[in-house]
Amino acid sequence: MTAKATPLAIRFGTLYAGDGTIHRNGVLAIEDGRIASLGDAPVADGAIVIDAPCVVPGLINAHVHLEVSGEAETMSLYVLTTPVQRAFACADNARKTLEAGVTAVRDLGGSERLAIDLRDAIAAGRIVGPEIVAAGRLITMTGGHGYFFGREADGPDDVRKAVREQRKAGARCIKFMATGGVLTKGAVPGTSQLTETELRAGIDEAHRHGMKAAAHAIGADGIKNALRAGIDSIEHGHLIDGEGVALLVERGASIVPTLAALDRIVDAGPDAGMPAFVVEKARRIADVAAENLRAARAGGARFVAGSDAGTPFNRHADFAHELELMQRWLGMSASEVVTAATRDAALLLDIDRGLIEPGAVADVVALPRDPDSDARPFRDPLAVVKDGALVYMRTTALTTAPVSESWIASEMRSNG
Ligand SMILES: [Zn+2]
Repeated sequence: MTAKATPLAIRFGTLYAGDGTIHRNGVLAIEDGRIASLGDAPVADGAIVIDAPCVVPGLINAHVHLEVSGEAETMSLYVLTTPVQRAFACADNARKTLEAGVTAVRDLGGSERLAIDLRDAIAAGRIVGPEIVAAGRLITMTGGHGYFFGREADGPDDVRKAVREQRKAGARCIKFMATGGVLTKGAVPGTSQLTETELRAGIDEAHRHGMKAAAHAIGADGIKNALRAGIDSIEHGHLIDGEGVALLVERGASIVPTLAALDRIVDAGPDAGMPAFVVEKARRIADVAAENLRAARAGGARFVAGSDAGTPFNRHADFAHELELMQRWLGMSASEVVTAATRDAALLLDIDRGLIEPGAVADVVALPRDPDSDARPFRDPLAVVKDGALVYMRTTALTTAPVSESWIASEMRSNG
């Protein structure tokens, strides 16, 4: 790939830096995998030049399941498919993720250690995809949410052991099930599952090894159990109450609202092939989730973008939908959405990405227009840069001419 070594220059209209800063009408220069300059420095000789109405840092999806691809019966796939079949799906989803402008993801639970091995294959350059921070298998109580592919654990010692197993397998974060969920038959989303004592033991073990901990938590009690036990992020959080918001803010934890997961199930409805209980549970939660989450935002909660990609009709290429819902349902501005999907997500994942500033790792997405009024431009990136390399370029960009002739000339030169 000649693009890897070639310097890039992106002439932008608007640039969201990821920390709330917005720059207008400048040039972003990228060299040796890093942001070389941001401003009006002249374009370096031989650089690939891209003209983009808008530029944002590489997006980060803080909640995905790479083994599943939005099938109606997501959960039964873990039982009905072989690990090799799921590994191929993982690789396909990784590529689609990257082409959608997402340069890093957190995989919050799969079977075996597929996402961990995929992470290593991507890091070694064998497969194209985002950086992956993987939890390994999720940790759930016996018969708890996700039990058929998770690691069932009961009692503080067993939960601690389950954390050690994920670490041994190569996990870089840990996922606990603090309440029931939508996709497991019989699991009531509002009901607490792992106890506060169990969570405390598991979170302590994760933290001792430098790993952050995430809790699937929909019901108000389970959310508070997880927060009191020291959790770093509440996943879903749909039924959070005022006490939970206060605790979340006091502890400095984040909330990852996965709005797209709910919306896609409700939108597809009962005739789309999902079990009836899934649609019914999602509908009941969706009725109150937006209101609860808006109250959490008003109470000062820090939101991180994560879509739960892989769940029914919730595709890996469609992270844009989550960003749209954060704008529409939660009233976040474009800049707030970008920060939730870049800098704040990077802090939660403990990765060195998510900001555009001189010296930073060059993960950049060029968009066809500014998402200030709606997040739709995220659906259709013009170009995606990861670690300073141009990894995706929309083919129509060549005919609609947002790319300058110097880019074409440099491509012709480098292709001999
Ligand atoms: Zn999930």
